Amino acid sequence: MDTFDNANPFQYAPAPESRDIARLKPSYGIYLNGEFRDGRGEAVKTINPATEEPLAEIAEADATDVDDAVSAARAAYQGTWSRTTPAERSKYLFRIARAIQERGRELAVLETLDNGKPISESRDVDIPTAAAHFFYYAGWADKLGYAGFGPEPRPIGVAGQIIPWNFPLLMAAWKIAPALATGNTVVLKPAETTPLTAITLAEIIAECDLPAGVVNILPGGPSVGQALVEHPGVDKIAFTGSTAVGKQIQKSVAVSGKRLSLELGGKAANIVFDDAPIDQAVEGIVNGIFFNQGHVCCAGSRLLVQESVHEEVIAALQERLQTLRMGDPLDKNTDIGAINSAAQLARVRALADSGDAEGAIRWSPECHLPDKGFWFPPTIFTGVSQANRIAREEIFGPVLSVLTFRTPAEAVEKANNTPYGLSAGIWTEKGSRILWMANRLRAGVIWANTFNRFDPTSPFGGYQESGFGREGGRHGLEAYLAQ
Ligand code: NAD
Repeated sequence: MDTFDNANPFQYAPAPESRDIARLKPSYGIYLNGEFRDGRGEAVKTINPATEEPLAEIAEADATDVDDAVSAARAAYQGTWSRTTPAERSKYLFRIARAIQERGRELAVLETLDNGKPISESRDVDIPTAAAHFFYYAGWADKLGYAGFGPEPRPIGVAGQIIPWNFPLLMAAWKIAPALATGNTVVLKPAETTPLTAITLAEIIAECDLPAGVVNILPGGPSVGQALVEHPGVDKIAFTGSTAVGKQIQKSVAVSGKRLSLELGGKAANIVFDDAPIDQAVEGIVNGIFFNQGHVCCAGSRLLVQESVHEEVIAALQERLQTLRMGDPLDKNTDIGAINSAAQLARVRALADSGDAEGAIRWSPECHLPDKGFWFPPTIFTGVSQANRIAREEIFGPVLSVLTFRTPAEAVEKANNTPYGLSAGIWTEKGSRILWMANRLRAGVIWANTFNRFDPTSPFGGYQESGFGREGGRHGLEAYLAQ
């Protein structure tokens, strides 16, 4: 694995993006009823996980701010927003989409600083896809009667939305765009370690003159999320995060009459048959598990490879991993950035250690980890059995567990041997086999000869412990329409 070595100049020169583009402020607060102010909760520092350097202080929300935000969202729902025509709603969404594009470079640098992901990913994936979601739902806002949910579909009311840290701006866009397009108002809580792009999105929303109270953004920790979930003035909860917290939320909203959608964890199988184009499959495996440091709910974290090509695939994969560049996330040549937090690093380490203890064989390319920050090298475990923790539990880090199979039926059985059901990948040149497999895999999203492709027009969501409800596409409207 390459990290820049002055003694060996025949390498990429550093190409750092300027951090000044982020226009970081010393402190940020909450966005409530159209105003920016300090939250009444704790003041916490958000840090750069690549260096552990504090980036800014966040005056977080508390339960009284949640109360105020829900009241503001209710007033906006009953007042301005319900009187705004669908065509007007659509214009606001288009405006937000264009403003995200205009401030795309700033948002990308901010996301990379706060999250640790490579700038190439925040610049080319997170920010453009976030804008694309607003564009896409702007198109639906005045055509809801043709979406297949009755001639006059109605909004639900006030939506409480809670998101994780792995795609901070993109998850905010996934939640806010369909909610507004269908006429709901929103109180959104970003994750505690990555509040900066959500607050900047609030600035964009304010600049686009969205009426006060239609979108409220409250940075804060789990207690703020809990207050939002339990608030009697909220009509719908949309949660993306871990399965454990999703289960707590489901219990908490039971019999409350609140609508709920849950986008939770995953343990996806990426299945490679012996007739697959191996080089292409290796790119798909790398993208499947090492994109965004593996902090991806639908990551292809279990590689199922047909026994006859196991050695060939592993050799090609190891060779490819040696060319990946790990280091400064702001460097445009970086492929693998930092783990988002010390807590997440500890979890990844503990699960990888369990792989050693249970007898799997660990391999990582030779690489130098920076002294400061939270880093974990891309790691492959071979000789993994289905009973091992690394084959069963979501690691949410750059760790791939490799298993083998002989027949398509065995591949299906192993792929489905999980409590999750979010995504899967199939690599084969036979179209009939893709269809045969896809009909038998229990996963919400199945990619064929590709992996981790996101598009606002495609529904995304899971089965079983990966949650329920769909985001994206026409289906994503349903989660915000009264039934
Ligand atoms: P997490 O569940 O710990 O936290 C997610 C969010 O919930 C955060 O904003 C957190 O503050 C909040 N929260 C925590 N406890 C809460 C409570 N009791 N009540 C209300 N809110 C609470 O998850 P995480 O570690 O931030 O994110 C990683 C998880 O998210 C992984 O399991 C990943 O698979 C999942 N995820 C799923 C999807 C998807 O679309 N299915 C997408 C991204 C991430």
